[in-house]
Amino acid sequence: MPSRRPLVFGNWKMNGLAADARALAAALAEAGQPEAGTLAVFPPFTQLAQVAAQLRGSGIIVGAQDCHEAAKGAFTGSVSAAMVADTSATAVLLGHSERRHGLGETDALVRAKAEAALAAGLGTLVICIGETEAEYLDGQTLAVLDRQVEGSIPDGIDAAKLVVAYEPVWAIGTGRTPTTEEISQVHAHLRGKLIGQLGEAGRDVPIQYGGSVKGSNAAAILGVPDVDGALVGGASLDPAEFLKIFIAGGGRLARPGS
Ligand code: PEP
Repeated sequence: MPSRRPLVFGNWKMNGLAADARALAAALAEAGQPEAGTLAVFPPFTQLAQVAAQLRGSGIIVGAQDCHEAAKGAFTGSVSAAMVADTSATAVLLGHSERRHGLGETDALVRAKAEAALAAGLGTLVICIGETEAEYLDGQTLAVLDRQVEGSIPDGIDAAKLVVAYEPVWAIGTGRTPTTEEISQVHAHLRGKLIGQLGEAGRDVPIQYGGSVKGSNAAAILGVPDVDGALVGGASLDPAEFLKIFIAGGGRLARPGS
């Protein structure tokens, strides 16, 4: 994992068919070459091999939106971490709120998936955490995040492979965001928590903010201390908007020959 900031990652969720993915990947590749590893996309499984092939050598990381915790076996419909790696994708998103809250994924399951991803040799694990609106209103945010960090991140993980994405559940896809003061407070807390759990290596683990990041609010959010990037859902489906977020955060795209 390169320097802590800015890492702008796009989660395409269950959107688009092969032609859409091809066009999106082509638009990103044509925009210029980012510093390796600072830009990433997470297409649906069916488009992973195609997008990984298309973006080879572009400096853009390609990852899956999930993987199964087992190495192989009778798990109909599931995709193992080794299968993800076999597409040439090098990253995986784990514990997204739509899986934690929509599909009942627990911290223990997220940790097991992370262990499977490490065993399969994936180089970047984005572990998502975040409080629900009820927990936010009840003042439980930091306690919930502490529990998720403790429960979801494998002991002894190589911190160079870890990215933590703080995504308040109530901010995802809603157009609402915490204030920059709230984001700052949470990220500073998470930095301390990661150092407590991982030792000095925790100082360099990138902490992304996610939840309704757009071109129009990216500079303010990505300018918050200890916000090392953004995990972007809806806006990542529009390459111009996605790149606007990247540039607003200080990302640079080198043109061929520049
Ligand atoms: C997400 O799904 O991780 C996300 C942050 O979505 P959105 O940007 O659409 O809120």
